[in-house]
Amino acid sequence: MVNENEVFKWISDLCGFGYRRPGTEADQRTQEYLVKMLKEFGLDEVWLEPIEFGMWDPKTVELRLSDGFVLDCEPLQYSKFTEPEGVEGEMVYIEDGTKISEYDIEGKIPVVDIRYGELSIDFLRIFSEWIYDPGNTLSTYKQPATWINEMERMVYEEAKKQDALGIVLIYPFNMRPYILSPEADPYNGRYGAVAGVVLTKNQGESLKRRLGNGVKEARLVQAGEIIKTTTSNVLAEVKGDGDKYIVMGSHHDSMWEGGTEDASGTAVILGAAKYFAKHHKDVKHSIVFLFDAAEQIDVMGSKAFIDRHKEDILKDMLVEIHMEHIAKETLVEDGEIIVTDELQPRAIFVSKKEELFNLVKRMIVKHDMRRTIMLPTDTPLGVPTDATKFAEAGYPLISFISAPLYWNTDWDTVDKVPIDEVVRTIGFAVDLARNL
Ligand SMILES: [Zn+2]
Repeated sequence: MVNENEVFKWISDLCGFGYRRPGTEADQRTQEYLVKMLKEFGLDEVWLEPIEFGMWDPKTVELRLSDGFVLDCEPLQYSKFTEPEGVEGEMVYIEDGTKISEYDIEGKIPVVDIRYGELSIDFLRIFSEWIYDPGNTLSTYKQPATWINEMERMVYEEAKKQDALGIVLIYPFNMRPYILSPEADPYNGRYGAVAGVVLTKNQGESLKRRLGNGVKEARLVQAGEIIKTTTSNVLAEVKGDGDKYIVMGSHHDSMWEGGTEDASGTAVILGAAKYFAKHHKDVKHSIVFLFDAAEQIDVMGSKAFIDRHKEDILKDMLVEIHMEHIAKETLVEDGEIIVTDELQPRAIFVSKKEELFNLVKRMIVKHDMRRTIMLPTDTPLGVPTDATKFAEAGYPLISFISAPLYWNTDWDTVDKVPIDEVVRTIGFAVDLARNL
């Protein structure tokens, strides 16, 4: 199949392009790279499907306190742009964001500590169909679920309701996160009604110290514009003798270097494409390899693929196999984040069909895909992956994912990816397709 050196090279090449944010030069280079690789594998049918959207482009982002101190901050993506001089007002510190409605924040700037709930395996067990965990390594596992953004949403909604000047969110870790405004609408180039910035834990402490010392006001600047541009899904096809399609996908965008998310998943689909380019007789049906764009901004790429192909490929699709995020385990110990040599636990969402359940179970055991929790697609958890739109539209799917807590932050670097495990996952994905 493919070896570790090759997989490592793909992942480092992708990470080396810079932050693969939709509409940027790094995004462009990523698409060109994927086309080049797919053609080198010997695939004849390789093409791009462009998606027009409005890129939210902040030129100046600044939080300056009235004592002159300037904090290093990230923008709250697709939140409101201010005038170049910004907005100036009184800050209100809110330690517990769930109580924000008890504060008067009209015409002010709430400063909120963001907290995330802990997700335990015991909780997932309630909904799981099956867990493959040789050695029982998962029984005590839990971690902050940084992808469940209830508090961000609550704070944003209240700030909008009370007509706050802007919001300042403090992230609970020393990482720079990419947080999207709940009102983001990149497809239509629209953004939210409230301006916002995000601080790392350290910058947040610094702000709180100054608030404690009597500094009251701040100026928040977030000036920029929406730029009409395009990103593209990258596709390739291997023709089979049967009349059905298998779609194998992952997303090629990332808001940061994105070793785990999602150079790792992209490498799995590249590996599968390389295999089937040479062994197309191994599979009965045609395979479409889908490297979709802009997962991180409202799953635009997979949405566009569904819109474009519901009358052809999707009409005859047996199953969509989606592969994302292979990572080393991260844990929080005494407030510190550590990366271990274990594997980040993973979930595999599978549509409720007896034959799919059985096939996935068989392949998980065969390839020793440890620490995998199998979940049907119709639980209250939904399918919180890049395949979410396929699930909503009722297409059969197998969606594999893990979610380290540094998800969508600048911590997501190539060294967090267990390359041997990516190689194993390629074997798993190929075998799934071969057995359909
Ligand atoms: Zn992803």
